[in-house]
Amino acid sequence: MGYDKELYREVALEYEEIRRHDRQDLEERRAKVFAMVPELEEIEDEIRGAGLRIIKLAATEGGDRTERVYMLRDRQKALLVKRKALLLENGFSEDELSMRYLCEKCEDTGIFEDRDCECFRRRLITKAFENSNLSMQLRDQSFKTMNLELYSREIDPETGVSPYDCMVNIVGICNRFVQNFDSETKNLLFWGAPGLGKTFLSTCVAKELIKSGHSVIYETAYRIFSMLEDFKFRRTNDIEKLRAQTERLYECDLLILDDLGTEFSTGYTNAALFDILNARLIANKKTILSTNLDMEELAKKYSDRVFSRIFGHYRALRFIGEDIRMKKSVN
Ligand SMILES: [Zn+2]
Repeated sequence: MGYDKELYREVALEYEEIRRHDRQDLEERRAKVFAMVPELEEIEDEIRGAGLRIIKLAATEGGDRTERVYMLRDRQKALLVKRKALLLENGFSEDELSMRYLCEKCEDTGIFEDRDCECFRRRLITKAFENSNLSMQLRDQSFKTMNLELYSREIDPETGVSPYDCMVNIVGICNRFVQNFDSETKNLLFWGAPGLGKTFLSTCVAKELIKSGHSVIYETAYRIFSMLEDFKFRRTNDIEKLRAQTERLYECDLLILDDLGTEFSTGYTNAALFDILNARLIANKKTILSTNLDMEELAKKYSDRVFSRIFGHYRALRFIGEDIRMKKSVN
């Protein structure tokens, strides 16, 4: 469980860049101030000199040491007051010659009280979203914004339940899947006609899990299959990048494979799909599959081996009703 090491590395590199920028920003401000008020450069040098002498004295033994430290401190204080006055007189702000951080708490180190600073956690989450491939518009969606009223309360003759009750049940299962994610043993298989909220709901699950520090990858089956083929036939300028992307399909905490069944599959892609899903089962990593096909069509499309080995470990949730995208545009 937890974000990829790679993600930590990427964010840590960003923080190095931020600190480099902080230092450069200070240098630029100093140069500007000193050009306008040369006296301030002398004062700065003296403040630093006094500071160094205090440190040196503290490390040596001697009779009048304490008194000299007090004197230096007083001198330093006087210089700081003078510096502030000169800055303000010349239209600068009083911190013009100090470091300015994006996060005062960790001073842009990303670490606060020996732990990841809040700012670092936030950046990890944002980055995890970027890496998850979840579409921007769906990132604003959540269980809370889901409108169940779009689903009819009329009993569906085929299943004997209303689309509304069906969705209430599915949303409940998805919520529990999120709550118990680390101990969950079953995966989820969303199936049913298009436009019933399958992608929406998998995004809601993804969002909650990313926020609680899990790595999530969202891909359409079409994209995964072309990725696997590109990898096999080396159809890329950056094989290492493609290798890393492929590995993430195996390693992420949750893989959402959307639109299963729409891809053009071959013996090779089917075997590769089996390999990914099977490896994830063995490693007890969770997967959400989503498809517009029904169980019979799925069984026909994929080999018996895939079907019996894989789908038995999935909790199949059927979405029923009318396309709610149509209702949204009417309302
Ligand atoms: Zn911070």
